[in-house]
Amino acid sequence: MTTTWRDDASRDLVRSFGERMELFERGEGAHLWDADGRRYLDFLGGIAVNSLGYAHPVFVAAVAEQAAKLAHVSNYFATPPQLALAATLKRLAGTGESGRVYFANSGAEANEAAFKLARLHGRPVDARTARPRILALRDAFHGRTMGTLALTGKTWMQEPFAPMVPGVEFLDSTVEALEKAMDEHVAALFLEPIKGEAGVIPLPEGYLRAAREITERHGALLIIDEIQTGAGRTGEWFAFQHAGITPDAITVAKGIGGGFPIGALITYGAASDLFYPGTHGSTFGGNALGTAVAGAVLGEIESAGLVENAARRGVQIRQAVEAIDSDLVAGCRGQGLLIGIGLSRPVAKAVVAAAQEHGLIVNAANDETIRLAPPLTIGDDEIAEFIDLFTASLRTVADALLLEDAPDTEEVSA
Ligand SMILES: *Cc1c(COP(=O)(O)O)cnc(C)c1O
Repeated sequence: MTTTWRDDASRDLVRSFGERMELFERGEGAHLWDADGRRYLDFLGGIAVNSLGYAHPVFVAAVAEQAAKLAHVSNYFATPPQLALAATLKRLAGTGESGRVYFANSGAEANEAAFKLARLHGRPVDARTARPRILALRDAFHGRTMGTLALTGKTWMQEPFAPMVPGVEFLDSTVEALEKAMDEHVAALFLEPIKGEAGVIPLPEGYLRAAREITERHGALLIIDEIQTGAGRTGEWFAFQHAGITPDAITVAKGIGGGFPIGALITYGAASDLFYPGTHGSTFGGNALGTAVAGAVLGEIESAGLVENAARRGVQIRQAVEAIDSDLVAGCRGQGLLIGIGLSRPVAKAVVAAAQEHGLIVNAANDETIRLAPPLTIGDDEIAEFIDLFTASLRTVADALLLEDAPDTEEVSA
């Protein structure tokens, strides 16, 4: 008896993920091929990870060349690609001289480091100066480890794993709520500039500037999670740069490695002096292989003008989506190439399934939102193909809804 890959997956893989949707064997640019040789246009990009698309020659060469030279030596030692990437991240994030970089291997690990940074900042010098409180935004997502889950304002995610790491309080995303919650006992405010997992929901206009002013006034750190929004995705290197502010720390991961797992905490000014020897670490963090690949990926994003491309292609996609003749499209949110397409009915999962049938990969961020995070390299051809396939997918779902809504013929004749 033969078993299918689906049987293998449901027997052997952890059940914390849903059914795997497809078995992919290879990719090139914005396209994927499944085990039967069928081609798909991928506008999810590994969830905002594959900045350069699949098998980009710069990515491939960086992995191969560094693997042949030196992959890992531990953090007892430094390596040239690690130092080069730290300098690049400081420059792109605008930290100036005083910035520092902690390397991790994922988004959650970068946020764990940021959580510990906040605790160090909140440590009392005497009883009156303790800052035990940490503020985060309701519905934001910061990761799945115990520390980052405690920062993630989604009750259903936290509930099975109670009790949470203490000290975190959740706020609505309004300046008013922040003003009300803030005092001299807050160590840090954590936020996502655009809530990606929640459905590509931007912060209200002016929120980041107000958050900077309020945290500064009370001596709290402003820590911005740029894991999904960073590496050029929103049309700036980091989304906070649209607001023209300087945070105390940002976290990055996803897009900076272009498919290689790497994350980082980047600190500014006085926050750069909080960690001292022995307070944090990681065996793999900052290894030569990962930092060489991320350095090459960021170098290509910069030299090929892909940050500008993300800004321009984002506008192009949003305009084209809003011009689609379908009652299902309610409007677009997001910035650059992090796009949420709002639907007029809670059919996002049906749209994703129809898209897959048509050879298009997109994601349902929630029941009413399709999330797009394509490679930053896309151009006219990929966008035209996307609009064709997405229009066909919407039509498939609309037809099914019409059938569902149609009055039962027997009932009508009776
Ligand atoms: C993906 C994501 C994380 C978690 O990153 P992992 O690499 O999955 O641990 C944290 N914050 C945001 C905003 C993310 O999008």
